[in-house]
Amino acid sequence: MSEDVDLPESHPRYESLLTRHRIEAGVDRGITSRQGLIAQGRGEAFDYLLGERTIDSADDAERAAAAHLLSAEHPVVSVNGNAAALVPGELVELAEVTGADLEVNLFNRTEERIEAIAKYLREHGATDVKGLTADGRIPGLDHERAKVDADGIGAADVVLVPLEDGDRAEALGEMGKTELVIDLNPQSRSAEVATVPIIDNIIRAIPTITEHARDLRGDPDAQRDAIETFDADSALTAAERTIREGDLE
Ligand code: ATP
Repeated sequence: MSEDVDLPESHPRYESLLTRHRIEAGVDRGITSRQGLIAQGRGEAFDYLLGERTIDSADDAERAAAAHLLSAEHPVVSVNGNAAALVPGELVELAEVTGADLEVNLFNRTEERIEAIAKYLREHGATDVKGLTADGRIPGLDHERAKVDADGIGAADVVLVPLEDGDRAEALGEMGKTELVIDLNPQSRSAEVATVPIIDNIIRAIPTITEHARDLRGDPDAQRDAIETFDADSALTAAERTIREGDLE
């Protein structure tokens, strides 16, 4: 990626340094909020305890998420400031492979930041970015937090929400949507209310979901199987066990 600093890939903390740099650049560009820096720090701590790898239960969740997106009537990939800063091109590719819409959806919503994120996604190949109309509402949330596009998240049956705030994740679930949540904390409310909690770093999760989607595309039986065999409670328990019992080197 052109904005990345020159970091030696052999550095033992390469991925973590790259992530920090991208978030910092996101703040400088006006796409990531300053609170996003704090969220990143929180995520990093969990990732460290997970061993900075995709555990098997997360890979199963990523396969189930791909299957849900492919078999949805109207799938939407929600994009916030951290997601846009970390994996812009990868989000565009996932949306293309699964036929999902991309919608900018911010906790601390400002028109400037929405415009900046939409522009950044277009620079990474997106043709249609939703989130600018904001003519729909999520019931049960205050005005600013409730805004979505009526023909985007408002009409979606399946929504992939990376790093979502707990209240909004809960409210989306109450609207009857199938929620696929990426969050490194298995005890966050967002992960707990998700149909498919993906306990993994978004940097690894998005490309892995895309890979599974390529594999599952055109195979409804395999999609059904991935959805039916996935168990959210076991995935959360497996992630928590890994964090609690992990070998720190
Ligand atoms: P909740 O209300 O759901 O309990 P929160 O709103 O307090 O959580 P935040 O402080 O906003 O959570 O943090 C956002 C969440 O995103 C954290 O749980 C953090 O672990 C997670 N997170 C941060 N960076 C990443 C990342 N790169 N990949 C995946 N998850 C991440």
